[in-house]
Amino acid sequence: MSEDYKSMWESLELDLKAHDALLEVLGKGYQDIYLAQKNRPEGMGYFDFVMSEVHGLRIRELLDEKAAGQKVIGSFCVFVPEEIVRAADAILVGLCAGADFAGEEVEKLLPRNTCSLIKSAFGFKLGKVCPYIESADMIVGENTCDGKKKSYEILKDLVPNLYVMDLPQVKSAEGRALLKAEFVRFKEAVEKLTGIAIDAKRLKKGIEIVNNKRKAIYRLSSLRKADPPSISGLDALLANQVFFYDNPARFTESVNKICDELEKRIENSEGVFPKETPRLLLSGCPMAVPNWKLPWIIETSGAVIVGEESCVGERGTRNLTDDSGTTVDELMEAIIDRYFQVDCAIFTPNPDRLDHIVEMVEKYQANGVIHYGLQFCQPYLMESMPVEKALEAKNIPTLRIDTDYSMEDVGQLKTRVEAFIEMLK
Ligand code: SF4
Ligand code: SF4
Repeated sequence: MSEDYKSMWESLELDLKAHDALLEVLGKGYQDIYLAQKNRPEGMGYFDFVMSEVHGLRIRELLDEKAAGQKVIGSFCVFVPEEIVRAADAILVGLCAGADFAGEEVEKLLPRNTCSLIKSAFGFKLGKVCPYIESADMIVGENTCDGKKKSYEILKDLVPNLYVMDLPQVKSAEGRALLKAEFVRFKEAVEKLTGIAIDAKRLKKGIEIVNNKRKAIYRLSSLRKADPPSISGLDALLANQVFFYDNPARFTESVNKICDELEKRIENSEGVFPKETPRLLLSGCPMAVPNWKLPWIIETSGAVIVGEESCVGERGTRNLTDDSGTTVDELMEAIIDRYFQVDCAIFTPNPDRLDHIVEMVEKYQANGVIHYGLQFCQPYLMESMPVEKALEAKNIPTLRIDTDYSMEDVGQLKTRVEAFIEMLK
């Protein structure tokens, strides 16, 4: 890494030694998991570059944008409305992390039985290795699961700029009213942070930017219906992960370019795996960078992942926001309508998610579903049981996997996944 980056990381008060160690592990993991794949689309070169510069060039860009007056807002959840952030010329970045870090320090603040996603976010902060959280002018914590909402009470003492957004847990009129009140309050907070009054023209522009990136990633998802598969699940997951970090216009263009390439591959029946490779849908908790363990196990065990029913996947990206309104009120209502459809397991009851899983199985012609639950994640682990029951009632084979970010269970998981794939053949 260049000296230039070193001084940039120093200016963000990162722990350089720990950060170097993290980048080394990340680079090695990327090499072994991503670059070892065969027949990848050429367009993935863009994502390889993004990943190699995820703590370098992208942070340099964010700091340049900050120097030019733009604000950076960090978030842990797909409920934070990016349209409102973009409307104020601000930048939204994902802060969820997908690797264990500073475990001992974390367990001084959080109970051991907290999910890896929350522990990891704390670990990256306490270990001083995340340039995104250190670049953020505002960090949004949302009241979704109990683990997150209680951990924000602790996080507020670790960061100077935590903003807590309340969220409904029931899809009722009262629930929608709460979401509306919270989105209006968030809009006001973003206006205060940026000094920009969000009018209808700005809101429309914000909606357009975010719709375009959702359309591009959705186009990529749709191309995964093909057999032979033209892109691996690992590569498609990576595009979904980069969705949360990249410059949106550049991301949209790069994803569309890959889609053009995939369309040609499909026309020529060119696949990344042979025809009739068993096809699996992944459903459950979100997978943040560099959490590639389970997809890697699946795709090195003889199957291909054809879709992610996840917030880093279709749950987070599938619905567009109606941009036909002409006033701030109309456009805000459209944004609220769009987000109120997100079927996170924190909602009770949550039948839409089950319908969506079945819809995805049919759309992508999946032979089975692997439900991925992080240990100690009550909402998704609880919901995995009715999901399994309902899928099996429709003769859709399902495997429930509960795991964490450690690599200790790789052998055991591989045995279970291989047996499941064998059964599908
Ligand atoms: S799973 Fe729920 S809490 Fe997590 S990012 Fe998605 S919507 Fe937010
Ligand atoms: S994985 Fe589960 S427990 Fe962890 S933050 Fe997400 S919803 Fe909460």
